[in-house]
Amino acid sequence: MELKLADVVTRYPGASRNALDGVTLTLQDGQIGALIGPSGCGKTTLLRAVAGLERVRQGEIALGNTTVSSASTHVQPERRQVGMVFQDYALFPHLSVARNIAFGLHRTAKADSTRRVAELLELVGLGHLGERMPHELSGGQQQRVALARALAPQPQLLLLDEPFSNLDVDMRERLAQEVRNILKAERCTALLVTHDQLEAFAVADHIGVMQHGQLHQWADAYTLYHRPATRFVADFVGHGVFMPATVALHHENGMDHKHVVTPLGELHDIDPELLQGLPLGERDLLLRADDIVHDDAAPTQARIVRKAFRGSEFLYTLQIAGGHEVLAHVPSHHDHQVGESIGIRAEVDHVVTFARG
Ligand code: ADP
Ligand code: MG
Repeated sequence: MELKLADVVTRYPGASRNALDGVTLTLQDGQIGALIGPSGCGKTTLLRAVAGLERVRQGEIALGNTTVSSASTHVQPERRQVGMVFQDYALFPHLSVARNIAFGLHRTAKADSTRRVAELLELVGLGHLGERMPHELSGGQQQRVALARALAPQPQLLLLDEPFSNLDVDMRERLAQEVRNILKAERCTALLVTHDQLEAFAVADHIGVMQHGQLHQWADAYTLYHRPATRFVADFVGHGVFMPATVALHHENGMDHKHVVTPLGELHDIDPELLQGLPLGERDLLLRADDIVHDDAAPTQARIVRKAFRGSEFLYTLQIAGGHEVLAHVPSHHDHQVGESIGIRAEVDHVVTFARG
């Protein structure tokens, strides 16, 4: 079911700041959203507001065509048909796996409930473990049971708050992908909170970046990475640096043209439409590691300050004249030493600038 937040404001009693400060987003039916942002930015509060566990001071939350929260409306949590999964699984320790999953189906006829439990056990890959007790399962298996239990009553919306954070890294990556498949198989609309952006990229169709109760951007991973709406998003998502850049006009063939000059030289081959939108003046240019190309013939020399092996490539941190640092992915058969200088040039497909910080 579609979830819509319009200018949602919440504040905890006695707090001097809004925990959610005017959040607007739409999560379409069947889509998976993820919220990322530093600790305390309001991710959990947003889930709690959607679940009906926190009241809204201003703005509106709608599930499908129904307003569930506003300054004057508050549909009780149990009437919202919203499922929740938390990081600490919270399975009932004295109930078998199957009975844990059946817990939310107490109003369903016995035969239907049994069928649904079997279907979910299968879906989460635990078909043969229905009679086990929770303590006989690994953390990842327990989390899958928690997911199956939340999905059992076919909620209109599923909320997941850092569901993988108690698991080790290997398990997390695998489970993140599996959870996406499971949610898609159930055609479930879901909103996930995570502090791991790679997890968000792996699971979600849409990702929101929050800071201080505000949603900076709500977009797909590609857009967040290549078209960050704010400096904060640019900094928070992916690896990158800011480099001073001058956006200026020159006159040519009777027309004004914009150009962008950086300490790495003038940028070439900028998409004319992007160029059009760039504000003039002294700006900070976002440079991702994939914007810097190692090229022995390039006039700019950069000294290797650090390097990190990433399998098929190295991530080099490089310093150019003037002390500016850039990052570069370089195929790992180019194995240069720290302290060595290599030629680089900027090949910036996505020119994004911000006011000088
Ligand atoms: P996140 O999940 O992103 O880490 P939270 O939503 O838990 O952030 O918290 C957002 C802000 O609200 C923080 O400043 C936090 O201290 C505050 N907060 C969270 N829960 C409460 C509460 N029950 N009472 C008062 N303040 C709270
Ligand atoms: Mg939280």
